[in-house]
Amino acid sequence: MAANLLDHDLEGLAAFCAELGEKKFRATQLFRWIHQKGASDFGQMTDLAKSLREKLESNACIQGLSVISQHESADGTIKWLFDVGAGNAVEAVFIPEDDRGTLCVSSQAGCAVGCRFCSTGHQGFSRNLTTGEIVAQLWFAEHFLRRHLHTGGERVISNVVMMGMGEPLQNYQALVPALRVMLDDHGYGLSRRRVTVSTSGVVPMIDRLGEDCPVALAVSLHAPNDALRDKLVPLNKKYPVADLLDACNRYLEHAPRDFITFEYCMLDGVNDLPEHARELAHLVQHHAGRGVSCKLNLIPFNPFPASGLVRSPQHRVQAFAKVLSDAGIVTTVRKTRGDDIDAACGQLAGDVQDRTRVDRRIAQQRTIVLRPVPADSTKEA
Ligand code: SAH
Ligand code: SF4
Repeated sequence: MAANLLDHDLEGLAAFCAELGEKKFRATQLFRWIHQKGASDFGQMTDLAKSLREKLESNACIQGLSVISQHESADGTIKWLFDVGAGNAVEAVFIPEDDRGTLCVSSQAGCAVGCRFCSTGHQGFSRNLTTGEIVAQLWFAEHFLRRHLHTGGERVISNVVMMGMGEPLQNYQALVPALRVMLDDHGYGLSRRRVTVSTSGVVPMIDRLGEDCPVALAVSLHAPNDALRDKLVPLNKKYPVADLLDACNRYLEHAPRDFITFEYCMLDGVNDLPEHARELAHLVQHHAGRGVSCKLNLIPFNPFPASGLVRSPQHRVQAFAKVLSDAGIVTTVRKTRGDDIDAACGQLAGDVQDRTRVDRRIAQQRTIVLRPVPADSTKEA
């Protein structure tokens, strides 16, 4: 079977070229064609010898994901649903802001952690994505957006957050090469500070990430103590809060930023009371005697029918934020983007087992339905 070149970081591609009897520097050329120019066809790669192109034609492919649907929100947010086979789909979301373009990327079809407030968690776990499937989300979105926004080949995506479907640190093997493609100067050239892995707290893998590929880290905390966190994030029973915060401090020794971002999903009456805020401030400032250097990101809960949970009222979010700010902790309240297209955090269900439901939803929203999408991202090459 032909090797999908999206599965390789530059080192992997060099090894693949070596197997074909080619010099390593050819890998750099090839890598640039794929990621910087969005090429999907070896025929376009005119500076590669014809003999190499022929070898590639018969041994390799550049295989993206097919797009089931694309929804564009009134605020410019774009959500894609990608087909990953066997009735599974994953989502990626582009969030434009004045000074950056962020792509939210999925790491798994479904998720095994099963957080109470997350629709991906409710869906259960289907499978890990491959490196190529993680990279394909960025490869497609970047080159689509360059054409869509007529940037004349200028880069659109400046930040990647691994905050789509799935727990990235439970798909570590595939994640790390994908991060390397994002960071590589011959790939997307993203700064380590602008690539964020978000985790529900897989402690041993936080340590490994610090050693193998330190990028910005976001930790989904959601509760100031074990009793409450056990209920919201079942993984807490395995890796309790104290162990998690110790891992955060170890990570900070390698991290490109000097703080961890703690995410905290605000659930009405569950974790949003002033006493929770005070306990949280105490925890992050005094854990192990020195606290954890951090910023707090409060996320208003995005409801979905099966959760039985309710979003905290705004005044309570503000009061909660004030307790933290008054304690000297940098605290932001996340703006919800793409609400109208179900692209907000935790609304990524990606379940196409029941295609009719998805198709009806798509039709109701009168959005563009692209199917099939040619893997042709090469117009500006
Ligand atoms: N599995 C990783 C990354 C994906 S979830 C993690 O849990 O960190 C990305 C973020 O969205 C996490 O902080 C998660 O807690 C949050 N989230 C999940 N469901 C949500 C919902 N319904 N409303 C708001 N935020 C949610
Ligand atoms: Fe998985 Fe993250 Fe959702 Fe929890 S919040 S179920 S870890 S995707």
